[in-house]
Amino acid sequence: MTQTRPAPENSPLLAVCDVSVVFGGIVALNGVSFEMRQGQILGLIGPNGAGKTTLFNCLSRLYQPSAGDILMEGRSILNRPPHRIAEIGIGRTFQNVALFPNLSVLDNVRLGAHSRTNSDIVSDSLRLPWVRRGEAELNGRVHEIVSYLELDGVAHTTVSGLPFGTQKRVELARALAAEPKILLLDEPAGGLNHEEVHALGDLIRRIRSDRKVTVLLVEHHMGLVMSIADHVVALNFGRKLAEGTPSVVQSDPDVIKAYLGSKDQ
Ligand code: ATP
Repeated sequence: MTQTRPAPENSPLLAVCDVSVVFGGIVALNGVSFEMRQGQILGLIGPNGAGKTTLFNCLSRLYQPSAGDILMEGRSILNRPPHRIAEIGIGRTFQNVALFPNLSVLDNVRLGAHSRTNSDIVSDSLRLPWVRRGEAELNGRVHEIVSYLELDGVAHTTVSGLPFGTQKRVELARALAAEPKILLLDEPAGGLNHEEVHALGDLIRRIRSDRKVTVLLVEHHMGLVMSIADHVVALNFGRKLAEGTPSVVQSDPDVIKAYLGSKDQ
């Protein structure tokens, strides 16, 4: 049995420890380590094929590292299936939006909130008192988040009829409804225009400060990463190339070389 002591005050919220991922003969990640502190916005960057998505998929438990560990508040998350990461406070959004297109905004967000409840099918079907109390609490939370993301006007609209930028906000609402400690954002700026990217940057910063959510941002849009991240980790060919403040990473000769040699930016 694994015994875990409570994490000390200054310990990281999330620790990626020497993580490697090998697909057949391809080493997608090679001994990558970094830490995330509570309240941080961490940008994960790198040219095409650097390993960003692979790492994101390890964090959201879609991929299993070939070596290394990932610790959330001092405990390994590697024995958790993807549908059980919300319970430990990890929320995510998807690159191409993964909502239920035929459900309303409210119902999509409600599903996100449900992923954090402890209800079971017997209690639910008997509508036991704590289930009713839980439902009222859940509904309140869903409406609060829908308002927070300024989605009241489309709360009852079917998601498939909404513009892409609004769908992305619904996805964010769904992830926030589970009250995550860490929010993993997979290329949130993809498909958005200049104004929408600017608004997204403000929104991510507001979410961090209003809701005390720590954010990991995988993003190609360098302007967005450099303007909102406190800390940046740069990958290239599966290895960590550099990490530090945006200005340190931006002026790192290896990072400049990696980007100049790629088709990005
Ligand atoms: P991009 O910015 O283009 O999305 P990335 O930084 O996210 O790139 P990954 O998608 O993680 O990079 O890919 C890292 C390496 O692993 C690449 O060489 C890629 O071809 C390979 N790879 C990723 N997923 C798989 C997979 N499921 N099977 C085989 N190889 C894979």
